[in-house]
Amino acid sequence: MKAAVFHTPGKPLSIENVSDPICGDNEMIMKVKQCGICGTDLHASDGGSMEPPKGTIFGHEFSGEVVEIGKNLKSSWKIGDPAVSLPFISCGRCKPCVNGNPFFCETSMQSIGMSPEVQGGYAEFVRIGLPESLKVPKGVNWNFASLVEPLAVGLHGVRISKFKQCHRTLVIGAGPIGLATIQWLRFFGARHIVVTEISEERKKMAEEMGATLIIDGKTPTEELVAIYNKETGGSPDIIYECVGSPNVIQNCMEIAAPFSEIILIGVCDKPDTFMPFMGTMKELTLKFAIAYLKDDFQFTIDMMEQGRIDPSKMITNQIGFDTLPETFESLKTAKDQCKVMICPNR
Ligand SMILES: [Zn+2]
Ligand SMILES: [Zn+2]
Repeated sequence: MKAAVFHTPGKPLSIENVSDPICGDNEMIMKVKQCGICGTDLHASDGGSMEPPKGTIFGHEFSGEVVEIGKNLKSSWKIGDPAVSLPFISCGRCKPCVNGNPFFCETSMQSIGMSPEVQGGYAEFVRIGLPESLKVPKGVNWNFASLVEPLAVGLHGVRISKFKQCHRTLVIGAGPIGLATIQWLRFFGARHIVVTEISEERKKMAEEMGATLIIDGKTPTEELVAIYNKETGGSPDIIYECVGSPNVIQNCMEIAAPFSEIILIGVCDKPDTFMPFMGTMKELTLKFAIAYLKDDFQFTIDMMEQGRIDPSKMITNQIGFDTLPETFESLKTAKDQCKVMICPNR
């Protein structure tokens, strides 16, 4: 099959013919319809602590059609079923797996698209596990299905926070994860959804997705706090940090009201410093979010099917293998795109 392969940090992905994935007894093979390019992939390809081994095929935000079914699964799935999957292949039997939390599998968790052993969705076919797979109902089109993963990230962040309808919220950053978070906050009825963002294109998107106020991301903290208070009549009850770079935690702590909560959804793999005393004086809660539960995927699919959430505007480009390497490189600096979808079989 054709796939985009990572070799060396700083070098563009290379389009190659690689061997087809082999289906295990409790696994399926999916023909990839679309796979989102994620900031995590861009970041990992630049090297550093997240650098994947040579030969990795990225892609953990995919949807597609089942084309092969492991011998233990014939009754529950059929060829041609549209599907999405959490990007893990886990044991399905340990306590976290049974509780729908395969990321924390105690025996055999493998991440799809993070190593050469389990290649991801930047390819014509991808291998998925049964416990992590979900059927896509008729009312959910491919664009929606391909956005289930990033939407689930935002949903998980909101779900692990102390959020209640009446809360004032602040979302730092309107990249795909920030935009997903904004949509869920709107969905759940947040009173104020204030967003800070630098890019003009993303500001527009944040507004379309339900932000109630957008403040320029370069605004000095004191001024930002003043604007926030003036517009909402108080300070944020919860801050959702969706950027993931050094200094952002300290920034959030400066903005945060006493007793508020900071949910860290953005992924930062660099050392960072902040002043703990500030957290002490405000009795702040810092909470880190990782991935999602299977129900975050199912809830997202259900709400899409019912027409209660519509993230389709997040897709700003759809590409084939021909332009994949150059598009991937350009996304490392361009901030005018949101979700770029790879369509490996078009
Ligand atoms: Zn992602
Ligand atoms: Zn397990």
